[in-house]
Amino acid sequence: MLGPGMNRFLRDLGKLAAAALALVFPARCAGCGAMEAEDGLCARCAGEAWSRRPRCFRCGADLRGPGAWRDRDAGCRACAGRDLGVARTAVVGPYEATLRRLVRRLKYGGRTSLGRPLGALLAARVSEEGLAADVVVPVPLDARRERRRGFNQAELVARELARRAGLPLEPRALARVRPTPALYARSAQERWEAVAGAFAVLDAARIRGRRVLVVDDVLTSGATLAACAAALRAAGAAEVVAACVARRERRRMAAASA
Ligand SMILES: [Zn+2]
Ligand SMILES: [Zn+2]
Repeated sequence: MLGPGMNRFLRDLGKLAAAALALVFPARCAGCGAMEAEDGLCARCAGEAWSRRPRCFRCGADLRGPGAWRDRDAGCRACAGRDLGVARTAVVGPYEATLRRLVRRLKYGGRTSLGRPLGALLAARVSEEGLAADVVVPVPLDARRERRRGFNQAELVARELARRAGLPLEPRALARVRPTPALYARSAQERWEAVAGAFAVLDAARIRGRRVLVVDDVLTSGATLAACAAALRAAGAAEVVAACVARRERRRMAAASA
C-alpha cells in the first residue's frame, strides 16, 4: 500500500504530465475553448472565421449593398485606379470576432500551432478564388521584431498554405531592408509613406519570371503588400497575387480613429 506522500507525488506527476501534454498537443480550440479541436481550432470556429460575403477580387474588401456580387468581379471603388501592386487578393474574412481572436492568439499569444488551421483556411480560399502562383513568399517581419517574438506569423501561415497548395515556400527571398515603425493606429497615408521602399528581394534568381503569392496575416491599408509587390516586380516577378488571413475593413478603421 502506498503512503499519502507517494499518492500526492503520483497525483502531482499526473498533473504535470497533463500540463506538458497540453503544451505539446493543445486540445482546446483557441477560438472558443471547446475540446474537439483539430490543430487548435474547432469546426464551429473555423466556420465562423470563413466569410461567405462577396469581396473585391483586387483588394479583398468586404462588399455590401445591392451591387456587391457584381462589384466582386469588377473591383470596388476604393481600390479602382490605385496601384496596389497585386493583381488579386484572397482573404478568409474580416478582422473581427472569431477570426480576429484567432489571429491575435497566434501573433501576440504565441499560439504558433494556429499557423496550421489558419493556413489551411487561407489555402482553401486561394483555391476557391482560383489564384495561380509558382512560389509562396511570406511578408517578412523586421529582423529585430522577429527575434523578439521568436517567429513570423505570416511565415507560419504561408508554410501551411504552400504545403497544401503543393508550392515551394521562399521565406528568405524577400527581406525588410529598413525597419518601419509600428503601423498600428496610423492613417492610410502614413502607412504608405512608412513602408515605401522598406522591402527588397535578396535572391532574385528565386523570383525572376515566377508568379508570386505573397502571404500576410492582416491586411490593413494594403501599403505593406504594395511595397512587397514593388520589390518583387523589380526583381522580375512575372505576377504578384496576395493572400491574407484577415482584412481590417475601412469603415471600421474610420470608426476606430474617430
Ligand atoms: Zn472553437
Ligand atoms: Zn477593391
